[in-house]
Amino acid sequence: MPDIAANLTSLRNRIPALVKIVAVSKTKPASDILEAYNCGQRIFGENRVTEILRKKDQLPSDISWHMIGHLQTNKVKAIVPFVSMIQSVDSYRLLVTVDAESLKNQRITDCLLQVHIAEEETKTGFSPEELATVLDSSGFRQLKNIRICGLMGMATYTSDLEQVRKEFLFLSDCFNDLKNKYFSDDPDFREISMGMSGDYKIAIEEGSTMIRVGSLIFGERNKNHSDNA
Ligand SMILES: *Cc1c(COP(=O)(O)O)cnc(C)c1O
Repeated sequence: MPDIAANLTSLRNRIPALVKIVAVSKTKPASDILEAYNCGQRIFGENRVTEILRKKDQLPSDISWHMIGHLQTNKVKAIVPFVSMIQSVDSYRLLVTVDAESLKNQRITDCLLQVHIAEEETKTGFSPEELATVLDSSGFRQLKNIRICGLMGMATYTSDLEQVRKEFLFLSDCFNDLKNKYFSDDPDFREISMGMSGDYKIAIEEGSTMIRVGSLIFGERNKNHSDNA
């Protein structure tokens, strides 16, 4: 049995205080989440809509739920009423849907734009060129019920840590370019969500403001469970 409290404390002690921890609780029971909650953890990341819906009803209402997995437009409606942040916005169509559902709920939903930084084709996300096209478009400027809080990325699954570092640096550069060009007056555009259990140290060295850590806190996951929703 992993000691969730000890894992969380030791992770906190190893990172700068300003870096936020998203505790990735996918596949783990509500009781594990509560254990982390009781150590003060409030931000939890999930990658499946059905799982997030099931768990949130069993857990304290002041938890900040972050959607971190690929999100289908027809499932946006279910999470918009309560989700704190959608980190995995990977298409313009999804952004438009989140905006429309947020308007219906009379709220503004915090979003990160997911950038494709890995070599693997299977990972989703915008290319920097696609991002520029979206941000330049007049349609984008009409979306009033989303708040773009920054970027999210997932590095290649590899033991080549120099490769991983290069990809994180790429995301940081991309963030700085967009900040200068589109968000220079916008204090909300401030997050770079990158780094997981195996690479969070490198991610922080390359400018991460938010790490998404699962197995290091909760223990290994069941390998049969797909990491993509
Ligand atoms: C599962 C997952 C994580 C956490 O992975 P660990 O290696 O267990 O820390 C982070 N980000 C995303 C998008 C994930 O799907």
